[in-house]
Amino acid sequence: MGRRRGTVSGPTERVVIIGAGLGGLSAALRLTGAGRSVRILESGTQPGGLMGRWESGGYRFDTGPTVLTMPGLIDDALACVGETRSDWLDLVELVPSYRAQFADSSVLRSFTDTSQMADEVARVCGASEARNYRRLVGYLTALYGAEFDTFMDRNLDSVTDLIRPEAITLLRLGGLRGLDRMVGRYLSDDRLRRLFTFQSMYAGLAPARARAIYGVIAYLDSVSGVWFPRGGMHQVALALAGAGEKHGTQISYQTRATSVEFTAGRASAVITDAGERIPTDVVIVNSDLQAAYRELLPAGLRPWQARRPRHSPSAFVWHVGSGGELADPAHHSISFGTAWSTTFDEIINQGRLMSDPSLLITSPTVTDPTLAPAGRHTYYVLAPAPNTCIAEIDWPRIGPRYVEEISRVLTERGFDAEGAFSSGVEASRFISPADWQSQGLGAGSPFALAHTLTQTGPLRHPTQHPAVDNLLFCGAGVQPGVGIPTVLLSGRLAALRVTS
Ligand SMILES: Cc1cc2nc3c(=O)[nH]c(=O)nc-3n(C[C@H](O)[C@H](O)[C@H](O)COP(=O)(O)OP(=O)(O)OC[C@H]3O[C@@H](n4cnc5c(N)ncnc54)[C@H](O)[C@@H]3O)c2cc1C
Repeated sequence: MGRRRGTVSGPTERVVIIGAGLGGLSAALRLTGAGRSVRILESGTQPGGLMGRWESGGYRFDTGPTVLTMPGLIDDALACVGETRSDWLDLVELVPSYRAQFADSSVLRSFTDTSQMADEVARVCGASEARNYRRLVGYLTALYGAEFDTFMDRNLDSVTDLIRPEAITLLRLGGLRGLDRMVGRYLSDDRLRRLFTFQSMYAGLAPARARAIYGVIAYLDSVSGVWFPRGGMHQVALALAGAGEKHGTQISYQTRATSVEFTAGRASAVITDAGERIPTDVVIVNSDLQAAYRELLPAGLRPWQARRPRHSPSAFVWHVGSGGELADPAHHSISFGTAWSTTFDEIINQGRLMSDPSLLITSPTVTDPTLAPAGRHTYYVLAPAPNTCIAEIDWPRIGPRYVEEISRVLTERGFDAEGAFSSGVEASRFISPADWQSQGLGAGSPFALAHTLTQTGPLRHPTQHPAVDNLLFCGAGVQPGVGIPTVLLSGRLAALRVTS
């Protein structure tokens, strides 16, 4: 009997996964649970990849993602090996999910409970905008409903895979129209429009360039909910890796894959930097897509989907541990500047730092004080920044000055009233696009390829190589895309190629 389209032919007993990022861990749990012998090679010393941790002087910082949505996907991965989330993670729902502060100093708290949020919108923007907000929630919920099974949780090997009733629904919902315009049909208050479109930056696009299908990100963090694991985001990676190992996944840390060997047109072994040759039936690549085609795979194998990559913008992240409190503490605060479209233009097209920045300020100690010494706090300030393709910025020189600039802006905007960023700072470190680049990430961007129309859905690199059926991929560079929920899904989709 011939193999089913889109699955791996031949034996699939032994699987080698390159990278213990969330995508790799998700694939590992599913394949371990399905009885495969799984070995993960991880060049670093800990699991989770970008969901990393930095510790200094009793402060514990998450170095990557801070906004956790769709925790059900973590449950789903753990369930593959018969494990339950509550045995591994203590997740807290964040209420409010964000505190948004605008240039006119108005503050709006974002609640996922629609009634509570409608009251908040009415308080800040008026009763008619609260009604508009309720209509927008209906729209975003319909988008999500039409999208999840059709585009997100599905391997798309060709455009014809989209011929489904939900695709018609999506088109009717204006899914391919501009996100800005569609949200603008519902909301008239500029502040609210920003609150429901800024998430397009997570997909690497300005709201004016993103398609309305990316309204689904706003759905996730404004309607569905935002969570935080006690102990920090890195706990998610530890939980997935720990559950896998308990059930037989083998993880080899400080082991870099240096090449994939091919025999008769099939991936047959992975070679490590220690010179080990690991024979295998299936290879799953979780490392950066461009780096994999550059360093691990033969040049001729690069398919069209990986030939002209357009990377997302990058990020400058400043970690601060201090004795000072925020003037109005919140787990996640967004400080919007006055500028908006010009901000995206500066970062994405002009390759300049934001002249009037919009910043994400996360303070995990608001939810879990154990992440800092008693009475102290941790802060994570994320400033979107140009990637290294669009701008050659001398980050080692500019970085310290940019930290001063961010500190000044936060003081001016009233965040530093209690000295969170200025007095009593005991730990401080920044991570710049140059640092992401030195970690091997394409264009110095930790957000992989931008979700432009030509890098979305069936046009984004699939989870299976188009010509080598036992060479699979997962992670932010492939379908469905960047972010915690999506890379967990990509691991699941790659595993389905083996188990279907
Ligand atoms: C600053 C920042 C903020 C973010 N904020 C959010 C957020 O709030 N919410 C959200 O949902 N997402 C967010 N993201 C995105 C999200 O973290 C990523 O999309 C996701 O974690 C990427 O997972 P991945 O599976 O692609 O693997 P990665 O995390 O890229 O891991 C790949 C792994 O492969 C290893 N590796 C690489 N090469 C080799 C090799 N040759 N041999 C062996 N191992 C190798 C690496 O060491 C790494 O561990 C953020 C990311 C960053 C950096």
